[in-house]
Amino acid sequence: SPVVSTNFIQAIINDDKKNNKHDGRVQTRFPPEPNGYLHIGHAKSICLNFGIAVQNGGLCNLRFDDTNPTKEDVEYVDSIQEDVHWLGFDWGDRRHYASDYFPQIYEYAVQLIELGKAYVCDLTPQEMREYRGTLTEPGKESPYRNRSIEENLDLFTRMKNGEFPDGARVLRAKIDMASPNLNMRDPVLYRIMKSEHHRTGNEWCIYPMYDYAHPISDSIENITHSICTLEFEDHRPLYDWTLETLGIFRSQQIEFARLNLTNTIMSKRFLRQLVEQGRVSSWDDPRMPTISGLRRRGYTPEAVRDFCERIGVAKANSVVDISLLEHCIREDLNNRGRRVMAVLRPLKVVIDNYPAGQTEWLDAENHPEHPEMGSRKLPFGRELYIEQEDFMEVPPKKFFRLTPGQEVRLKHAYIIKCESVVKDASGRVTEVHCTYDPETKSGGSQSGRKVKGTLHWVSAPHAIAAEVRLYDYLLVDDKTEETEQTDFIARLNPNSMEKLTTCMVEENLAQATVSDRFQFLRQGYFCLDSRDSKPGALVFNRIVGLKDSWVK
Ligand code: ATP
Ligand code: MG
Ligand code: MG
Repeated sequence: SPVVSTNFIQAIINDDKKNNKHDGRVQTRFPPEPNGYLHIGHAKSICLNFGIAVQNGGLCNLRFDDTNPTKEDVEYVDSIQEDVHWLGFDWGDRRHYASDYFPQIYEYAVQLIELGKAYVCDLTPQEMREYRGTLTEPGKESPYRNRSIEENLDLFTRMKNGEFPDGARVLRAKIDMASPNLNMRDPVLYRIMKSEHHRTGNEWCIYPMYDYAHPISDSIENITHSICTLEFEDHRPLYDWTLETLGIFRSQQIEFARLNLTNTIMSKRFLRQLVEQGRVSSWDDPRMPTISGLRRRGYTPEAVRDFCERIGVAKANSVVDISLLEHCIREDLNNRGRRVMAVLRPLKVVIDNYPAGQTEWLDAENHPEHPEMGSRKLPFGRELYIEQEDFMEVPPKKFFRLTPGQEVRLKHAYIIKCESVVKDASGRVTEVHCTYDPETKSGGSQSGRKVKGTLHWVSAPHAIAAEVRLYDYLLVDDKTEETEQTDFIARLNPNSMEKLTTCMVEENLAQATVSDRFQFLRQGYFCLDSRDSKPGALVFNRIVGLKDSWVK
């Protein structure tokens, strides 16, 4: 059962229930526009809308807000459904499209004309801007404002019938050109747009504006609480005006602060730009803050939901540190990630006193705190790989890894000591020669002998080659308020991905599947890349490193 969170929206709902508003019924909706892939900000909205429904014994609809034909596509409809399901939510038989309501939305526009509350306006967009006024200056009434109802009905029908070119005329609400709220100065309700819609084809050449279609869609679906982001607060009077003037079911709009995250961008518009300019490979590039990108990177739905729960719901905009998101996935994977060994930048180690051609099979636990996760067998022999960075010929002080004359423990195996090195013509160390102490096998009687360093390793003849991709942030700094995002291309991190193509991983990983999550000892949490990894040519993504930088 979900944790019942208390936030200001739940407080409103509690009041509404107490007053038996809508007979105590709670119905929400998640209304994405299918013009791009969902991102982590949408995850917050999904968790909130579906979560509130579950917590209150209510229902949550999935509604595609597809009233703008030019940018929308079925590709996005499919990805949105996949992402909502992946997050663990289900809309049952309540999947709707705003475009299904086009006939009804049109009928309501006719009603507004008949009520004398809407008119056809012939001002050009430029003139309309001039007439609109400013925050400090009232607007001017359009010369077309007082057309007769008959003329408006005739013109609106002819707009619908395709008699006028794009942009020639609009339908406007007749509200108040002197309103201090610019959204109430006779806002546009319908525009002419001769473009094909991904669902209604060429049936319509006029399309309703968001501010007009949204309240009607909510009302048609009997949505009780219509939750949206803060930038719509100023639009609420228009939302209410629409429902009140039409005298239809009164959904209530409630605004909350949108999620902003450091070191990334969130607008679909900007994310699309990254994809179209080839700065990332696709919408699901593992560096993207999209839900599909996080999924491919290796995030779990549990970690994303935990994150959304922890950030809470606020009335004021803020920027959340991305290290909190990382903290959530790290905590989840620390608990469930199987421990394995992988060497990302291999250096050959030869154990001179170990018999050539011999292999022994060592026991290695899969998780130190979860014995029920079992253990596996690891081959050990004369030739191994360790990390290049775990050996230094001339070490600084306090280097407790491998260095001439110094002992280290190989995890799950023996203590070894470096005796000599082999170098190539350029002086680079290509092989480290060691001896091992056969008395120090892990789990054996002498296993307690202490040395300062423990290294991960793989057996050279058994290990399998793999590619490993390490990721860094998409943006180099953390100024992420929406308004500051215009120059984000200049702030792109040029080193957001490092591909290591000569890694050696323990052979047990040949059986890994895309749903597996691993801790590569001392390296972080990893999973197979769902697009690029193939049997025999494994590709791993680093989901997150081990070091937690989140400060409460
Ligand atoms: P973007 O600006 O990223 O394109 P949008 O608001 O235009 O997002 P929609 O598809 O209209 O995208 O969003 C669907 C729902 O998700 C809306 O109710 C919107 O308020 C919510 N939403 C979008 N971005 C965020 C965010 N960063 N934090 C919280 N909710 C968000
Ligand atoms: Mg939107
Ligand atoms: Mg937007």
